[in-house]
Amino acid sequence: MEKFDAIVIGSGAGGSVMAHQLSLKGLRVAVIEKGKRENPILFEHSEVEMFPQLYKNAGLQSSKDNALTIAQGCTVGGSTVINNAIWLRPDLDKILPEWEKAGATVPKNELIKIYGILEKALRVKPIDPQKANRGADIFMRGCQELGIPASYLDNNREECLCCGWCNYGCRYNRKTSMLVTFIPWAEKLGAQFLDECIDTQILTNGKRATGVQFYRQGSLQQIYADKIVVSCGAIGSSALLLQSGIALGGRVGRGFHMLGGVFVTAETMETINGYDGIGLTCYAKASEDYVIESYFAPPVVFSISVGGFFRTHFERMMNYCKYADAGVMIATDPTGVITLDKKGNAVIDIKYTDTDLSRLKEGIKTLSKIFFRGGAVKVLPSSFNIIEFGSENDLNSIDTLVKRPEDLTIGSAHPQGGNAMCEDSRKGVVGLDFRVHGYDNIFVADTSVFPTNIRANCQATAMAMSYYAASFVAAS
Ligand SMILES: Cc1cc2nc3c(=O)[nH]c(=O)nc-3n(C[C@H](O)[C@H](O)[C@H](O)COP(=O)(O)OP(=O)(O)OC[C@H]3O[C@@H](n4cnc5c(N)ncnc54)[C@H](O)[C@@H]3O)c2cc1C
Ligand code: SF4
Repeated sequence: MEKFDAIVIGSGAGGSVMAHQLSLKGLRVAVIEKGKRENPILFEHSEVEMFPQLYKNAGLQSSKDNALTIAQGCTVGGSTVINNAIWLRPDLDKILPEWEKAGATVPKNELIKIYGILEKALRVKPIDPQKANRGADIFMRGCQELGIPASYLDNNREECLCCGWCNYGCRYNRKTSMLVTFIPWAEKLGAQFLDECIDTQILTNGKRATGVQFYRQGSLQQIYADKIVVSCGAIGSSALLLQSGIALGGRVGRGFHMLGGVFVTAETMETINGYDGIGLTCYAKASEDYVIESYFAPPVVFSISVGGFFRTHFERMMNYCKYADAGVMIATDPTGVITLDKKGNAVIDIKYTDTDLSRLKEGIKTLSKIFFRGGAVKVLPSSFNIIEFGSENDLNSIDTLVKRPEDLTIGSAHPQGGNAMCEDSRKGVVGLDFRVHGYDNIFVADTSVFPTNIRANCQATAMAMSYYAASFVAAS
């Protein structure tokens, strides 16, 4: 019978930092991961190859009504392996009071100290504008023309070669993802990472977890530990608790939310080869209602987001070298719900409300203005029916052309919530010590504990919260 001090389920931003912290504190740690461990040198510059290899549901995870796609990693290192390496601290002066109101008190000074430690460890620094794709120039110029504050973001990369393939794994190890940082660091301290573990369940005896069971390489395995930490990410962690029979009277899975939106593409007269250089680079602080970030995608994702059918789509793709791209994202309220279907798979019930949609449309108008002022000749929001703006005068047409969320191609890479932290055991899923209410030794540490939306890219806060959680887990 294999016994550990702690088992961490999930090896993404939250799970890897947790495994490292617990190992540093002298605990014997096992990490159970659903995805496969990849050798970075084998990451291909091919979306078709890499989506099934690195993404959950091959990149096709969607909401119950299929109106929204939600991208997450499924590999050792989790979403950090496929993310854009943007490091963004949220506005804690806004977020923490909202959390406090929701019953989740997290000390600001402690978080600030932890962000600093992680930033040093992951070598976080501002993006070098020379390494950004040239679409960033158009974006920044437009913001300047409009007087919208904008800047290059911070990133966790070291000597980046600017190939632009971050969303499919960095084969050159220039992105300091968990796969090349906290995972090998934890392993050096003795942590064991087991990949390709499926149908994982937490084993419980009354209010105490005793271990986990899972299938690996065709056989059912059980391992045991004094502490279990669930770090399967938003959606995954709620699903795992439910699959283990932990529902807390229907509270597990409730309060799911996301930061998501649409891509908006700008056609220019020049050949700017937007694929050449780092994709996500700049941020425009235009409104509290939405987040705008510049971006560029390799051809398959670009071809899906640019929209149009048959001839229109073909003609749009022929201009691939002349486009700049960016995204508008809005933060939804925590009204989504994660449940299980008959087969035990997660069902994601989340909808954009009318308010969400009107914020998104306002964001699209602002971003389109940024692009026109930056030199674009045409702007194409990612939509089901063909929408093209030829000038700023056309922007209000979106109010009549877009009536429902399904009229736009909406996606998110920042799902959050579902296992909300709340001191009140009748309301939340985990307490202020990240322990699942009603259980002695089961903890959750990842984006699923965020009670309300952080309105920022999530990796920094997923890691910081997990680092903070580790001291409670170790002390329990
Ligand atoms: C394409 C993309 C780009 C992004 N870009 C950025 C960015 O530039 N900056 C930023 O801040 N954020 C970015 N993010 C988001 C960021 O990476 C995530 O918010 C962060 O990694 C979440 O951490 P987590 O620990 O909650 O989950 P994850 O990192 O997703 O880790 C969860 C892990 O749990 C595993 N798992 C799930 N279910 C099970 C199970 N039942 N058993 C075992 N293992 C399981 C998963 O396979 C995964 O490895 C991006 C995300 C994506 C998808
Ligand atoms: S752009 Fe830089 S960090 Fe991203 S995959 Fe290429 S070399 Fe790696």
